[in-house]
Amino acid sequence: METVNHVFDLIVIGCGAAGIGAAIKFQKLLPTAHLLVLEARDRIGGRAFTDTKTFGESAPVDLGARWLCHNQPDNLVRAYYVLSDGDRIDTDIYGTSTMAIFDEDGTPISEDLIKQVKTIAEKLFSNIKQYPHDMPDVSMLDAIHKQHIKIDNEKMQRLLDMWLSFTENHEASDLAELSAKCYAKGDGDLENCYLEIAGGFGSFIKQIAEQHKLPIKLNTVVTHIDTSTQFDGLIHVATQDGCYYLCKYVLVTVPLGCLKACSIDFTPPLPQWKQEAIDKMGFGLHNKVYLQFSSVFWDQELTKISVATNRFKFYFCIPEARIVVLHIVGSVAYELEHLRDEEIVEQVVNSLRIIYPLMTDPIKWLVTRWGSDPFSGGSYSNFQVGNNNETLKKLARETHDGRVHWAGEHTNYDGTIGYVDSAFESGHREAILICKKLRQPKTMLWKNIDNSTIIVFILLTIFSLSPNILFYGIPIELPALINQLPEGWSLPAIFNLISQGAIISLIIIFLLRHLTKSNSYETITIIITLLISVITFITLGLFWHKTTIINNISHSTYFLLFSFIIYICDYSGSVLFLTYFDRYVSIMMRAYFLGDGVSSAALAILGFVQDSEKTQCIPIIIGNKTVLTEQASSLVFSVRIYFFILSFIMFCSLISFLILSITKIGQDESNKNDESIKLINISDDQIDEQHSQINNKLYFLAMFWSCFITYGFLPGLQTYALVPYSHDIYQKTIISIEISYLLVQIFCAIYSNITIERYPNLVHIFNIIGTILIIYIFIIAKMSPCPPFIDSILLGGLISGLIYIIINGLSHIAYILLNIYFHKVSGEKGLFWSSVKVKCGIASGAIINYMLTVHFQLFKERFPCHDYVCS
Ligand SMILES: Cc1cc2nc3c(=O)[nH]c(=O)nc-3n(C[C@H](O)[C@H](O)[C@H](O)COP(=O)(O)OP(=O)(O)OC[C@H]3O[C@@H](n4cnc5c(N)ncnc54)[C@H](O)[C@@H]3O)c2cc1C
Repeated sequence: METVNHVFDLIVIGCGAAGIGAAIKFQKLLPTAHLLVLEARDRIGGRAFTDTKTFGESAPVDLGARWLCHNQPDNLVRAYYVLSDGDRIDTDIYGTSTMAIFDEDGTPISEDLIKQVKTIAEKLFSNIKQYPHDMPDVSMLDAIHKQHIKIDNEKMQRLLDMWLSFTENHEASDLAELSAKCYAKGDGDLENCYLEIAGGFGSFIKQIAEQHKLPIKLNTVVTHIDTSTQFDGLIHVATQDGCYYLCKYVLVTVPLGCLKACSIDFTPPLPQWKQEAIDKMGFGLHNKVYLQFSSVFWDQELTKISVATNRFKFYFCIPEARIVVLHIVGSVAYELEHLRDEEIVEQVVNSLRIIYPLMTDPIKWLVTRWGSDPFSGGSYSNFQVGNNNETLKKLARETHDGRVHWAGEHTNYDGTIGYVDSAFESGHREAILICKKLRQPKTMLWKNIDNSTIIVFILLTIFSLSPNILFYGIPIELPALINQLPEGWSLPAIFNLISQGAIISLIIIFLLRHLTKSNSYETITIIITLLISVITFITLGLFWHKTTIINNISHSTYFLLFSFIIYICDYSGSVLFLTYFDRYVSIMMRAYFLGDGVSSAALAILGFVQDSEKTQCIPIIIGNKTVLTEQASSLVFSVRIYFFILSFIMFCSLISFLILSITKIGQDESNKNDESIKLINISDDQIDEQHSQINNKLYFLAMFWSCFITYGFLPGLQTYALVPYSHDIYQKTIISIEISYLLVQIFCAIYSNITIERYPNLVHIFNIIGTILIIYIFIIAKMSPCPPFIDSILLGGLISGLIYIIINGLSHIAYILLNIYFHKVSGEKGLFWSSVKVKCGIASGAIINYMLTVHFQLFKERFPCHDYVCS
């Protein structure tokens, strides 16, 4: 057997309306998920297929579905269609206005008799509708038997039978088989607004699929679906050509006829309730005989010809193509399936000739045989006696631990059945359910963890050291650099602006993501990002102090340039690193936050040990004056060593990632399916998409604002707010923030029950508190060099530092909660957009801060050893 070496998130079996509807919705909800549609035929569309070969392009004919039967704006299929000139809309498809009705001997039936029979038929249908619910189900024919036999006029009875056959035509089965209790439940009600699509319904369905560029494999007959444990929690889908495919979920959309014929084997076998529902549900037969003549022999105005006979009753006319289409259903259709085309055509022509004796023989014909078609096994489902909506629910309910899903027109329990739009809707329904499952937090019990999982967890933790090093590695060193680089106290604001300019790298990631339409670009981009950052930290260590003179002013060009590169890596990494975790079970998400916490602690330790330069005011005598000048203490280890250490951490991160992406152990873990995903009850678990979209917008805004104030605006502001209280307090505060991050990670791990779902307003409250505190910090910075408590360095510094730490702590909690939420509701896509909002927030905050600080010079610097007179 040949394996397709890939694990798909979802494999859809069958590319008819249901498969197409499901694939479109799935792709829309989870664009980066791996999807594959397997289709047995050499074409798509299933029972919606337009033939353009037999009678030529100018006379397309639909072998299956012809009318878009619910031509209303809320129809999911209709929503894709733009009306064109040749389309026909018919609100009264079985009305008599353009229909000629003949008796079996070819004589036209009088208007009067038609009216009388129509009234009787309506009464009979209304009787069926009122069939008591507490009585055992019977066939529609049995339900009207008493009234039916009362009609003793033979001609009238023939006409009445023809009239009742409109329903048979609609349901593709004889009245003797159809359930009285479920009459009109599958939309047997004939009053619909029909849209006849000029180019053919099948062509339109094909067009929808093509527009969405669905990943479809034709000529692939699925023969076996195996969900047994031997495939590590994955589903094994075998095909007739000897290939097999692995996936997390399967959606079976093959027609009910194929299921009845057991054309796909299941391991373990289908549960009894499913098999019973398949066997019990009705699946009718509806065939068409297209006859093309050399000239039109019927009245050009006619659209339909009906005959009160027990065989060929309904003809539809297409005068512009000189075609007459006979619709045959139920027992007559079954009887004819086994005859040769010529024999069928002869019978049809003979019966038509009774009405039109002068008609010539047809020049071309086309006969459908949906019953003997191995990929349909009939035409469409209906409620055979003894079935009801419960049967549909069983046909729709997932099997095999919730991993095998079911769609198709025969499963549309909360709408109509038997139509193209029914199939499409059912596909949407299942795609939403499957996406929801794929987005579920992938929980896994600690006790289930094996050695390979632990190794991968450790590797992921080391890999996760990188985001924080990229984001905070340089800012932690800023206090040491301020005294040594020419920008002095403007350095944080300039650095912030330049580094956040790296947001442009997001455009590259957007493009890669858009062009590849999958996450295949991820691995290589992460490797390149990590490699560049390792090299850049080494280069920073070597050249950070080099300056260049521009317009007679000395600039830290090297430092700013390499910082910019580091932030390019940071921006690229920010939308790649976190989303990368989506491919692992949920416990691995914790590795990300652990890595983040560990790197925060590492940076804090480095900062403390290095103990960045403190300035002392030394009195020196110049002439007869004593002046205080700054003298900086030396660092425990140099800035160069500091950057080399960061480079080493990034190197470890890179190696871990390489092991994860190259070795089998890393790959296997990323493919692992969550065993503990709970079964979702169909009836009460539909996603309220609109609601979640509104919430998402609000939470994305919350994420943006939190990052705007905390990581974008605050860092530049802090120098003016904290420096009046000493350089030392500034440095200790920055280091304390890193410790606060670690504490926040521990807090979130311990109190994992604090979630957005439980406390939907928590992040908004944090944002409000953060905003108020920032205003306070702003006031302190603005009042520098004479902020409140300036004389009480300890108290003033403590308040400012504490506030700074609180803002960061709250924002970090919000960051973690929001990311977990986005992952839950929108999976990889949610994490991606969350990361984009984070970075946009930071960049905007930094730009505003730069404008206020450097451009508008809103804040004044306070230099050590100066005497400030504050009243
Ligand atoms: C004669 C006729 C007239 C109709 N008229 C109308 C109409 O006017 N309006 C309307 O709305 N509906 C009409 N219908 C019904 C409509 O065509 C169907 O309800 C709808 O197309 C069903 O879509 P589906 O996706 O459920 O199934 P299908 O369209 O049958 O799709 C299932 C797909 O699964 C594939 N498949 C089967 N077995 C396998 C396998 N083992 N491996 C891989 N693939 C497999 C099939 O090839 C097929 O492409 C008509 C149908 C017929 C037959």
